[in-house]
Amino acid sequence: MIVGILAEDRMNENSAIAANLVEVERLIAASAAAAGRDPAGVTLVAVSKTHPQSAVREALAAGHRIFGENRVQEAAEKFPALRADFPDLRLHLIGPLQTNKVRDAVQLFDVIETVDRLRLRDALAREAVHAGRDIAVMVQVNTGEEPQKAGILPADADAFIETCRAAGGLALRGLMCIPPVGEVPAMHFALLAEMAKRHGLEQLSMGMSADFEIAIRLGATHVRVGTAIFGHRPPP
Ligand SMILES: *Cc1c(COP(=O)(O)O)cnc(C)c1O
Repeated sequence: MIVGILAEDRMNENSAIAANLVEVERLIAASAAAAGRDPAGVTLVAVSKTHPQSAVREALAAGHRIFGENRVQEAAEKFPALRADFPDLRLHLIGPLQTNKVRDAVQLFDVIETVDRLRLRDALAREAVHAGRDIAVMVQVNTGEEPQKAGILPADADAFIETCRAAGGLALRGLMCIPPVGEVPAMHFALLAEMAKRHGLEQLSMGMSADFEIAIRLGATHVRVGTAIFGHRPPP
């Protein structure tokens, strides 16, 4: 009977992730429609950090293909096997990247959303030569000017964005931000959208489980949603 119980538990979990994906996609479509936008213009990046490979497999079985992880090491443990089974899987790096992990990151990730300093820009540009392809990147902006948070400061962002655009080997797609916890996120999203517009950049990665609907209203093209899909994470 224990086997039966385990199987049932697993089935419930399966359907929870699949059902959560359906619900989040429904909310994305509704927010886009309310903003007069095409829902197809918003990509759901399912953030699977701290969740096991089996949870990602459940999302894949439900038809989802785009994921986000915040650590190179964790992605290296979980994703190569998944990619072998699902060649159309796409993975975004959404956490800080150390320059000594750039080679691994370029092999593992399709998009690096967290470019925020010249040394990292240079390391990625060099790695593009080695990889023989352009590397899709976003610039992370520290819109809340939080000292402990990654991202280029808004005052330095305009110049930095242009140096990333000019760097050979980088395909600059857009901007990304993580608003300060406990602040109204809308002004941060609006600031990022304004900056992207100024630079003619099309992609905006902003909005998480708690605020992706607001982000979509303010122009998000990529929302990074973890908890609303995979459930709560264990505390770090
Ligand atoms: C963890 C994480 C997310 C997802 O957050 P949820 O609140 O679980 O949706 C989004 N973006 C980044 C950068 C993260 O680290």
